[in-house]
Amino acid sequence: MKRKQEVHCAVGIDLGTTYSCVAVWQEQHCRVEIIHNDQGNRTTPSFVAFTQNQRLIGDAAKNQASANPQNTVFDAKRLIGRKFSDPTVQDDILLWPFKVVAGVDDRPMITVKYKDQEKQLYAEEVSSMVLTKMRDIAEKYLETPVKDAVITVPAYFNDSQRKATTDAGVIAGLNVMRVMNEPTAAAVAYGLDKRTNFDGERNIFVFDLGGGTFDVSLLTIKGNVFEVKATAGNTHLGGEDFDNRMVKYFVQEFKKKNKVDISGNAKSLRRLRSACERAKRSLSFLVVATIEVDSLFQGIDFSSSINRAKFEEMNMDLFNECMKTVEICLTEAKMDKRSVDDVVLVGGSSRIPKVQELLQDFFNGKELCMSINPDEAVAYGAAVQAALLSEDVKNVPQLVLQDVTPLSLGISALGDIMSVVIPKNTCIPVNKTRSCVTSQDNQTSTLIKVYEGERTRASDNNLLGSFTLSGIPPAPRGSHISNVCFAINENGILTVSANNNVSGVLKAITITNHRDRLSSEEIKKLIQEAEKYHIEDKKFLRKATALNALDDYLYKMRNALKKEDINLKLSSQEIEIIESTISAIANLIDENNQEVEIDVLEDHLKGLKSTMEDILAKTI
Ligand code: ADP
Ligand code: MG
Repeated sequence: MKRKQEVHCAVGIDLGTTYSCVAVWQEQHCRVEIIHNDQGNRTTPSFVAFTQNQRLIGDAAKNQASANPQNTVFDAKRLIGRKFSDPTVQDDILLWPFKVVAGVDDRPMITVKYKDQEKQLYAEEVSSMVLTKMRDIAEKYLETPVKDAVITVPAYFNDSQRKATTDAGVIAGLNVMRVMNEPTAAAVAYGLDKRTNFDGERNIFVFDLGGGTFDVSLLTIKGNVFEVKATAGNTHLGGEDFDNRMVKYFVQEFKKKNKVDISGNAKSLRRLRSACERAKRSLSFLVVATIEVDSLFQGIDFSSSINRAKFEEMNMDLFNECMKTVEICLTEAKMDKRSVDDVVLVGGSSRIPKVQELLQDFFNGKELCMSINPDEAVAYGAAVQAALLSEDVKNVPQLVLQDVTPLSLGISALGDIMSVVIPKNTCIPVNKTRSCVTSQDNQTSTLIKVYEGERTRASDNNLLGSFTLSGIPPAPRGSHISNVCFAINENGILTVSANNNVSGVLKAITITNHRDRLSSEEIKKLIQEAEKYHIEDKKFLRKATALNALDDYLYKMRNALKKEDINLKLSSQEIEIIESTISAIANLIDENNQEVEIDVLEDHLKGLKSTMEDILAKTI
């Protein structure tokens, strides 16, 4: 008989800035299933928290955020693949209640206290913890180990952000089958949903405004082929920015009303932020929302309200920025907006009425498509892609997904000019070769620097890596010395190699581990750490279960003792034994539970059960 464990299940994971979602292709029903978590929710907060005795991920972490703000980490996606000195990181740090410091090579390190010890974490590590949770959610539901996954990223993520996301998957023990662009995934969800109604070619505009990122893509669906024409976006624009504006507004209002400034108090700010997020959500359906936070600061209650117009006014510049990006994407795709057939809304923040209004106006009053769930579409598409990539899944629609690269890639040429090898919005996978010439007479070596970005001056772009070609035989300036080959794979990840064919020797140099990426040793170490965390979490759960079982047993015994006829059934000696055992174990549970070993607790329960069973049987 084939056991469930042997069933191969590849999942799709939408690793969001604020919420994550996991989905799987159900072969027997020929459709995607969004998997709910242990709380019954279909999306899980991308939160990780550390306390004195345990690590929490998801809803449990978010729920305790205001009580433990310094050790509750979120927004890891805003840090991933970035440097500490990056201005956007510096701006975010001012708003986060948890500490971020500069580590080796200017890497941002998230600093938390866990079991009374300071811990420094890479953004990849925090994301890997969220991924572990999503994997656990899937494993519980599917009742089988899950290894293979497609993870989504914003289309606008650059090379290092994609690589860092892959690393996070590896640390979580996943085999990352593909890093997929979020809007492409959403388009797949939309396309599958509507496929029966399509004839000919359809141009789909995907507008994804989430918690931390904003992404747009223009795709053409022709039969089973999904071709991305262009993508644009902003990796730092979303619902949290709208929340920030509202928090700032209410901090001022509180200051005016009460003459105290709460901006330095992480707990108060966290509580105010949660209230603001809730108000923002209601403003998508109501025109006025109230904010009530009891004892917000120094015992002062806060009660206020905000109307939709005010909310729109304070965020109008951000909304307009979204519309500019929409325009840029269409220009990139060289498509007139009238040629767009469907505008698909994705991401929680696409529910904001003003955003919908601006978008609808931009597309000359076109009805926006809201038939797919904006919170689940990305995971849905990722699950389809995961099934397509699994050899043993047979009945999945054979879609062909043709994606593009979001940024131009090139090398620095004479005079620090960016010489583009692969322009942005080129279809991937792709290979392109550029010939390299000497810049001086009798040059013996040359430094090749690889950049990504759109600036004319190479050094204004993001340096991905560099390598030196040496052993060049003396030759006049301008001689051809090598071919530099750029290869972008299906994940949008770049490899560069150079064939030095001057001396007849073929020499391939590959940039694999560029300076922003974790080394394989570091990843190995982090995998071990992840296992350690997992074991600790399991141990904590076992201990909590053992304590609960003991507690439950004590409760039953106490109830038994309360029975009126107890004196008739048990001797006074037996009652004494029970009472002293109850108080000994109650003490153990109340006072000592940090130090007591699990085995001791479990032994206690066993011992308790065997000595008490006879006695208790008499009481029934
Ligand atoms: P991400 O993919 O970046 O994690 P999501 O697509 O899950 O983000 O969207 C989360 C964001 O959407 C949060 O900032 C949340 O406050 C916002 N959001 C959710 N529902 C609503 C709503 N009804 N109105 C306005 N914003 C909303
Ligand atoms: Mg999202």
